[in-house]
Amino acid sequence: MTERRILTTKGTERVLDDSVIDEFVAGLRGDLLRPSDHAYDAARKVWNGMVDKRPALIARCAGTADVVDSVRFAREHDLLVSVRGGGHDYAGKSVCDGGLMIDLSPMKGIHVDPARRTALARSRPRAVHTMGPAGPIRLGNAVLNSRWRVPPSPR
Ligand SMILES: Cc1cc2nc3c(=O)[nH]c(=O)nc-3n(C[C@H](O)[C@H](O)[C@H](O)COP(=O)(O)OP(=O)(O)OC[C@H]3O[C@@H](n4cnc5c(N)ncnc54)[C@H](O)[C@@H]3O)c2cc1C
Repeated sequence: MTERRILTTKGTERVLDDSVIDEFVAGLRGDLLRPSDHAYDAARKVWNGMVDKRPALIARCAGTADVVDSVRFAREHDLLVSVRGGGHDYAGKSVCDGGLMIDLSPMKGIHVDPARRTALARSRPRAVHTMGPAGPIRLGNAVLNSRWRVPPSPR
């Protein structure tokens, strides 16, 4: 049986059997990447090219249920976690060395309510352009499920 070493929140190493990881993978809609996977290196890259951290596992979340499952898995095994949104943090805090990276970057989507002048964004949008009743509205970086006021449209 193969096993994987992964860091806990206390900085100690935990050994997880592949069977435990496979059970986690079975419930995910997105992919779970290990260092040997083809897509692993691209998934751990962030905007700051100086950041070169190597998570033990990367959960590429396809939706909210994947995020919930990833957090539960991390909590159950007391795993060190980082959360990646757009990967634009200068310090590269969205990638952790040796832990579980919960990668929200595949999750894109935004709902704009022009009447209430609000926008509900999922994790990923960076610069979003959309059309309001009086013209284009530009929205900046967004955080998972944040709700904020849309600025007045240019006249
Ligand atoms: C070229 C450039 C221009 C920028 N311009 C601006 C600017 O104009 N205004 C401004 O305010 N900032 C700006 N920033 C900074 C950037 O917006 C912030 O670093 C922001 O955190 C990036 O969001 P992200 O989703 O890419 O975060 P990431 O880099 O993915 O993560 C940053 C931190 O937020 C946490 N995190 C990410 N997503 C979530 C989530 N959904 N829930 C909980 N925690 C989460 C991560 O764990 C990590 O600690 C700029 C950065 C760059 C590189």
